[in-house]
Amino acid sequence: MNSYYAPPSQIQNGFIELRGQEAKHASKVMRAAEGDCLSVVDGRGRRYSGPIRRITKNTIQIEIEKQQRETATKPALTLGMGIIKKRDRLEFAVEKAVELGARNIGIFRSEHTIKENVRMDRLEAIAVSAIKQSLRCWLPEISFYRDWQEMVDRHPEAHCLVAHEKVDDEPYQPQDYKKNDQQMLLMVGPEGGFSADEISQFKKKGARLVSLGSYRLRAETAAVAFLSQFLS
Ligand code: SAM
Repeated sequence: MNSYYAPPSQIQNGFIELRGQEAKHASKVMRAAEGDCLSVVDGRGRRYSGPIRRITKNTIQIEIEKQQRETATKPALTLGMGIIKKRDRLEFAVEKAVELGARNIGIFRSEHTIKENVRMDRLEAIAVSAIKQSLRCWLPEISFYRDWQEMVDRHPEAHCLVAHEKVDDEPYQPQDYKKNDQQMLLMVGPEGGFSADEISQFKKKGARLVSLGSYRLRAETAAVAFLSQFLS
């Protein structure tokens, strides 16, 4: 069964209202009709299902018959991505991060970022589409930070790991971080990488440098490889 998305504000008194693109997709593309059963996630860990009771031009009303709650994936992974110049590569990284279970995603500027801004609305739409495709119930929050320092400072509880090709730390074991509900901040640089100065600032903040193998990966590939180490 296809999955649809409605935020908690559209779920009230035993009914869900699909709006906008979600309603259009169900009625026009999937040709859903009154009485058909749909599955809907709220992005906050709940999955609902039930029959369509009413279809209007822009909305679909579903009566909730069943609901389930799913706990969020552990450890709590936040991916930090330096802005990549090519939009489709950044979008790929966001899509894969959602599929792989990132709880939050941060996009940041750094010394070697070439492009200054990103279309956050596009990234949010990609994230919604990725939770539906991967049958997840949790929609990651996507935030923009003026620089990576701001992102790290906003996550004081998290263990910060920085993907870097040249690592002088002791090799680390991802399983050490899988225990309990640790918060992990996984930072990946832009196509130009992190500068030497940024790396020393990361270290001063207590971050750990992590190698993802002997060969250089594109930033979006590094994000996928990094997150995959923590798949449960
Ligand atoms: N010229 C850049 C440099 O010297 O750092 C290459 C940057 S790479 C294309 C983009 C980002 O992917 C890096 O900043 C790093 O975070 C990550 N990355 C790529 N390959 C990696 C590897 N083998 N180990 C760890 N991180 C890697």
